[in-house]
Amino acid sequence: MTAHQARKRFGQNFLVDLGVVDAIVRAIAPQPKDLMIEIGPGLSALTAPLLDHLEKLTAIEIDRDLAARLRQRFSADRLAVIEADALQVDFTQFGQGLRIVGNLPYNISSPLLFALVDCADLVCDQHFMLQREVVDRMVAEPGSSEYSRLSVMLQYRYQIYKLFDVAPEAFDPPPRVTSAIVRMIPKGAERLRAQDDKLFATVVQRAFSQRRKMLRGVLGEWTTLIPWEKLGVLPTWRAEQVSVTGFVGIADALYGSGI
Ligand code: SAM
Repeated sequence: MTAHQARKRFGQNFLVDLGVVDAIVRAIAPQPKDLMIEIGPGLSALTAPLLDHLEKLTAIEIDRDLAARLRQRFSADRLAVIEADALQVDFTQFGQGLRIVGNLPYNISSPLLFALVDCADLVCDQHFMLQREVVDRMVAEPGSSEYSRLSVMLQYRYQIYKLFDVAPEAFDPPPRVTSAIVRMIPKGAERLRAQDDKLFATVVQRAFSQRRKMLRGVLGEWTTLIPWEKLGVLPTWRAEQVSVTGFVGIADALYGSGI
């Protein structure tokens, strides 16, 4: 097979460090019957060792040439290759108990993480390689400069664990940034829930739309509807100081007000 020229527009940085591959596969701990979906299999650095443990794997790859290579290398009854943009894929088609993995192209990581929230009820766990800064934002605590809309929206839905960093030299070509592996486990039915998930998302988005502004400024006319003292949140705080619980309280206070 001819060598594949890495395509920048698809965020192609291929893992070449076998020690890192091994550490990722051990962290995922694949079991034969797992319903696993890999996003962006590329040249199959993870795909092949994952398949050593699995009966079957489904892989979503946007690059036509790479999808063709994968179909050549693996039999269709072991590896189902879906040639598609993962952002356009309806993950509900794969059933329940999904394990989603991938060394994600950095340009789609945030939109993909947000899109996957909608099918979190179908997911058992997710393991991703991401830019380290993104993982730091995912696990950030209120009060830190990394705490953002991504932190709140993902921590609302998942238990999130940063596992380990991966240096640029582990890839070919090396990316400009350090990467990290993250594990995401959807929270169960007993989790803290807002009355209305959409309203919760709207409140969080508005609060962080001007993160340097005080809540009373950024939430405008909503401010008078919020029982600040009861929630233990001050209208003079900024979004980055409010916990997930605080945002749920604010959203629930606005529930039924016609917003
Ligand atoms: N998994 C391989 C590895 O670890 O070496 C490749 C990782 S590379 C960082 C990202 C992969 O995702 C590439 O194969 C790229 O073609 C693919 N990709 C990029 N954008 C995609 C998208 N929107 N949907 C699905 N795959 C995508």
